[in-house]
Amino acid sequence: SEDRSLNFIEEIIEEDIKSGKHGGNVITRFPPEPNGYLHIGHAKSICLNFGLAQRYGGKTNLRFDDTNPETEETEYVESIKYDVQWLGFEWAEELYTSDYFDKLYSFAVKLIEKGLAYVDDSTSEEIAGQKGTPTEPGVPSRYRDRSVEENLRLFSDMKAGVYRDGEKVLRAKIDLASPNMHMRDPIIYRIKHAHHHRTGDNWCIYPMYDFAHGQSDAIEKITHSVCTLEFIPHRPLYDWFIEQLEIYPSKQYEFARLNMTYTVMSKRKLLQLVNDGYVTGWDDPRMLTISGLRRRGYTAASIREFCERIGVAKRENIIDVSLLEFCVREDLNKRAWRRMAVLDPIRLVLTNYPEDQVEIFQGENNPEEENGGGSREIPFSRELWIEREDFMENPSRKFFRLGVGLMVRLKNAYIIKCDDFRKDEAGNITEVHCTVVWGTRSGEDNSGLSVKGTIHWVSVPHAKTAEVRLYDRLFRVEDPGSGEGDFKEYVNTESLQVIPGAYIEQDMATAEVGKGYQFIRKGYFTLDKESTPEKLVFNRTVTLRDAWAK
Ligand code: ATP
Ligand code: MG
Ligand code: MG
Repeated sequence: SEDRSLNFIEEIIEEDIKSGKHGGNVITRFPPEPNGYLHIGHAKSICLNFGLAQRYGGKTNLRFDDTNPETEETEYVESIKYDVQWLGFEWAEELYTSDYFDKLYSFAVKLIEKGLAYVDDSTSEEIAGQKGTPTEPGVPSRYRDRSVEENLRLFSDMKAGVYRDGEKVLRAKIDLASPNMHMRDPIIYRIKHAHHHRTGDNWCIYPMYDFAHGQSDAIEKITHSVCTLEFIPHRPLYDWFIEQLEIYPSKQYEFARLNMTYTVMSKRKLLQLVNDGYVTGWDDPRMLTISGLRRRGYTAASIREFCERIGVAKRENIIDVSLLEFCVREDLNKRAWRRMAVLDPIRLVLTNYPEDQVEIFQGENNPEEENGGGSREIPFSRELWIEREDFMENPSRKFFRLGVGLMVRLKNAYIIKCDDFRKDEAGNITEVHCTVVWGTRSGEDNSGLSVKGTIHWVSVPHAKTAEVRLYDRLFRVEDPGSGEGDFKEYVNTESLQVIPGAYIEQDMATAEVGKGYQFIRKGYFTLDKESTPEKLVFNRTVTLRDAWAK
């Protein structure tokens, strides 16, 4: 990360440090609303906020922006904390906007006392109707000129539970003619008799986002409050509250949110996929949630690298999901142990190999590592499973695998020659018969033979059975969110393929969740959380090459 040019926020920070603004401090925050699981878009914000603090010797708070009691839950809080840590970041403080409810209430009282806020009895329809248009000013509510005393009393009654939901709101008194609609007397508190996941039933009034966010930043002395572009029009209001309340001058900066092809990127939409059963949960390996990516076999390092590569822009764009796949391939290539697994098996019989003989071959764990990352033992016997597609009854001239008369190398073992095959009544190949070419053991081959193809295999009596889950993109179209109609119509119903009976090397019985494996020629895989010693389950993280590349 040191060899790239500065992004625009880093440039701002370096200026601020030079000029001594904020006393040279850098304090950022990541402010999720606990109303869903984090997705890859949040990862971008996490990497940016924590990355800035790391780079400039500052700190980052994790602040739960929990001002909407109906949609927020403790389950989401826990998952968010887990995901941020898993991504490799440590927050300075774990904070909750709800911890500031008393403080925010007193900020509202202060505004009322300054004549800058009023209680409005209008309905939400009336308020919307009075807003005006960008070219025409709004109309004052008939409650706009209530006295300070009356406003204080009514606001206190709102808090005390005297009124029902929607009966009254508190509005800031700013400018009904402002070209910025957010400045036209925005609502800052509403009545909601709802149970809050932390404050329980203590409150029946809750602050609006705009009244909570900037003030929370100020309370924490956040120096650089980074958010996404849609908050640009909120910035004057952010600054206005800070100025009127005479609190710490936090500053808001906006960057382009991450959009990606073949997915939707909003917790609200992801929740629909979960609730309507399109996926098995927030951590379904097809979801671009942090938990889904983790279960799919993505590493934290690959996600951080992805966020680094996409950079921090000031204009919206859409990133191809294949870049994320590229990043995980690159990372797993460095760390994943190589193993052999046969996903679509047919039986291969070595007719010249003694029936009860077993040989043990050595296979290196990872050729990218020093000394191959150590090695494992691979048992070899007369009967092997090979991939159905590695045999052809009538091989074409460019087919360098098995067909009668052709030779291949069995990975880590012998060269073999194909002599014959068996078929069932339906015409399916059931067995391939070959002979071992003696003197061709890998690493000790002085036969002078050279063969073009190498195939993977697993010894029949030693193989473990596993369920293997192959995933495709969850949506059939590049931008499911923008099309006509409901985004769920674009769900790819073929996005999960389950292979119930794959054969894998015996030592994969000790595979670990969270570790990546390369199944040679088949892709990168990881153990699924549903796996048991009786029934192993693997997820394919990604294929070895980009199958979608044109
Ligand atoms: P969603 O629409 O998915 O619910 P959100 O912005 O409402 O997203 P928050 O929990 O409020 O979700 O987000 C926490 C932080 O993550 C915010 O600062 C937000 O700007 C940032 N964030 C959310 N989505 C993205 C994204 N796609 N790209 C970059 N940052 C994002
Ligand atoms: Mg939000
Ligand atoms: Mg949201």
